[in-house]
Amino acid sequence: AGGFGVNGPRTRGLPPVFTRVPTRDRVVFLTIDDGVDQDPATLRMLRELHVPYTAFLSDDAVDGGWEYFRAAHEQGAALQNHTLLHRYLPGLSRAAQRHEICGMQDTLRRHYGRAATLFRPPYGSYNRDTLEVARSCGIRAVPLWEAEVFPGRVVYRDSDLHPGDLVLTHFQGRAQWNGSMADALRTFLRTVTEKGYAVARLEDYI
Ligand SMILES: [Zn+2]
Repeated sequence: AGGFGVNGPRTRGLPPVFTRVPTRDRVVFLTIDDGVDQDPATLRMLRELHVPYTAFLSDDAVDGGWEYFRAAHEQGAALQNHTLLHRYLPGLSRAAQRHEICGMQDTLRRHYGRAATLFRPPYGSYNRDTLEVARSCGIRAVPLWEAEVFPGRVVYRDSDLHPGDLVLTHFQGRAQWNGSMADALRTFLRTVTEKGYAVARLEDYI
């Protein structure tokens, strides 16, 4: 879901939270969240365009569609953790946060044989418990985002793209948007190309 996360204070020993990866390369990173829309045309488009991306999946949004994301994974997508039920984590007890984050690690392991190394909290919202719990179940970093893409529109945190920016969009379609997933991907690629960026694989940079 929408909204910009805020970089928290640097917390020693905890997974770092960031919206941009330090790099001089003229690259940005595509991250696609939740998993509600599972149109085969989206995977075809991503495959044909050779666009690397990271999917932050929530069990609730995927709603049993694990084969779809297995296909995404087989064509190169990284599958990462976006909790079980997509709840506002700072409103939950530490135990409930553990269930949301570490439970999703178990779910990813069960379906794909491997837990996530990256975690994105729903709405970009977290507290210290979130980071401690995430670390305890194997999360190394907490990437948020600098820009969000909708069909026909990009919303920037800071008015423009910068090298290393994380860009967010969602597995959504006409049921959630005034446009299709393909429209959102075209908006992303046109914007990135016009501004002279390439799309890199996030896991290669952190
Ligand atoms: Zn989300």
